[in-house]
Amino acid sequence: MGTFSDEALKRTHTCGQLGDGNIGERVRLCGWVRSYRDHGGVVFIDLRDRDGITQIVYDLPDDPSNPDEVAMYDLAQSLRNEWVISAGGAVRSRGPERINPKLPTGAIEVLGDSLVVLNRSDAVPFSPDEFTEVAEETRLKYRFIDIRRPDMTRALRLRHQVCRTMRRILDDEGFVEVETPFLTKSTPEGARDFLVPSRLQQACFYALPQSPQLFKQILMVGGLDRYYQIVRCFRDEDLRADRQPEFTQLDVEMSFVAEADVMAVTNRVLRGVCELAGKPFPDEVPVMEYTEAIGRFGTDRPDLRFGMELVDISELAGQTDFGVFTGALEAGGVVKCIRVPGGGEMTRKETDGLTGWSKGLGAKGLAVTKVVSGGTLETGVAKFLAPFAEGLIAATGAAEGDLLCFAADEPGIVHRVLGELRSKLARQRGLIDPNDFRWVWVVDFPLVEWNAENRRWDSLHHPFTSPTPADLEKLEADPASVRSRAYDIVCNGVELGGGSIRIHNPDVQKRIFALLGIDEAEAHAKFDFLLGALRYGAPPHGGIALGLDRIVMMMVGGQSLRDVIAFPKTQRGTCPLTGAPGEVSDAQLAELDLKILAPPPKPADN
Ligand code: ASP
Repeated sequence: MGTFSDEALKRTHTCGQLGDGNIGERVRLCGWVRSYRDHGGVVFIDLRDRDGITQIVYDLPDDPSNPDEVAMYDLAQSLRNEWVISAGGAVRSRGPERINPKLPTGAIEVLGDSLVVLNRSDAVPFSPDEFTEVAEETRLKYRFIDIRRPDMTRALRLRHQVCRTMRRILDDEGFVEVETPFLTKSTPEGARDFLVPSRLQQACFYALPQSPQLFKQILMVGGLDRYYQIVRCFRDEDLRADRQPEFTQLDVEMSFVAEADVMAVTNRVLRGVCELAGKPFPDEVPVMEYTEAIGRFGTDRPDLRFGMELVDISELAGQTDFGVFTGALEAGGVVKCIRVPGGGEMTRKETDGLTGWSKGLGAKGLAVTKVVSGGTLETGVAKFLAPFAEGLIAATGAAEGDLLCFAADEPGIVHRVLGELRSKLARQRGLIDPNDFRWVWVVDFPLVEWNAENRRWDSLHHPFTSPTPADLEKLEADPASVRSRAYDIVCNGVELGGGSIRIHNPDVQKRIFALLGIDEAEAHAKFDFLLGALRYGAPPHGGIALGLDRIVMMMVGGQSLRDVIAFPKTQRGTCPLTGAPGEVSDAQLAELDLKILAPPPKPADN
């Protein structure tokens, strides 16, 4: 090793390109030693780069008196995994018996006649082979090795192509990409802000944007007409489930539009992305009202890949003498049921397990029964429902061998429990076709929901979402009944984006702030710039934001957002690669006029 000439860097191909058509050509490849096999007299190297793997062969020199050939062979024998090399030679056929059908380049190999070691590697903590199992923390700490894994390389390249496709489609439609500030004021997406202390304005803080919401609206007031940005957003949330504190959105805003216009542009973007990734996208995306989604699927993110819809059997339940049902109805609740196809085979232990699980979601319990031959009911709550079996079977479409699960409670709990149960059982019982993609727009959301804990109304979307004009008169008298002009795009039960037509009238905006308990002083302090802008000729406008990380994850069939983000954070919000977040020096704190009141104990010296 040591110095090498620039010639060694002049690749003719990548490691994924060579095939039958190149036989006889002289080539040079650069890459990482994925594996080496010394068969005594011949050394096989699998050379890897981001495009693929090519086999290089170094033969024991025919002429042992040729020092260059001997040195090259010795060097080939000394190669180790993940060393970086440049290999030159002639492409030859492997012959029918040695073809490797698993490799796209498996029909050929390169007979090496030059070898330059560009760099060595320490023994790697794990092999970047696609199939090695490694703890995620280790993968993130040695991300430079992890990124060499074909899966990661593929995901990052697809992500790049998805962004390009989005940009191309929006550009063709006259959208302009504009950057908005990261150092800004608190933005209202309802999460906690990340704060950045200001050195020049002491005791003041910037907030990292939870989204560019207010800036994109101001761009509309500025007459930009069609804006988009592929932009990082920051939300300091507890990272339960699969969330990242910084994530990327395709953020869009348009002037002089109604819901259907924003939804149509979004459909075109998503269709382009799906075409790129080879996934289906329908000619027409179904549109479902929020109340229908909740009623039939128990959630505003309905997964349409399987049935098991919620059936309201309150009327029938009211005729039984089953106290759990009648009690719930008397208290103003509902009784709903789902039919689990073939669920009759579930054991008592399994169905009891579901009851325990449903209690964790706030239910008092989960009643079940099974449909057996002749349409009779058996086990569970069968004895209460037997006289109503016929009606129940007609309402649910149940057949012999099915399981029926019932929840009786206030509607919120019934929907939550049966909605989650539906997904859980569909996964467990293999009712989901992994190649199915079912898109749906959910519209007509309520504008606000009651926050019982803090005794106030909260926006379901954000405070700049326009109420449905027909409902505006009920805004103060009956806020719960007011619908909003918001829309969410959902695929396979996952919300991939959401947006709304905005309020462009400053008086309506003030009424919404008042409803949300944001008094004049607070509105003035936080959103004066927006209220100001709305007074100076704000056009009607609306927009949407799509979760880029989640879309790419769906397109690559990834399991976690961390599979499609180059340098993600762990669930504790840390970056094992850089060690962020880290402590800062006393000098830095002093410059900011900050003091840590309770420093964490220093690790003991030993
Ligand atoms: N700003 C919203 C969000 O980030 C999306 C939108 O209303 O456009 O969720």
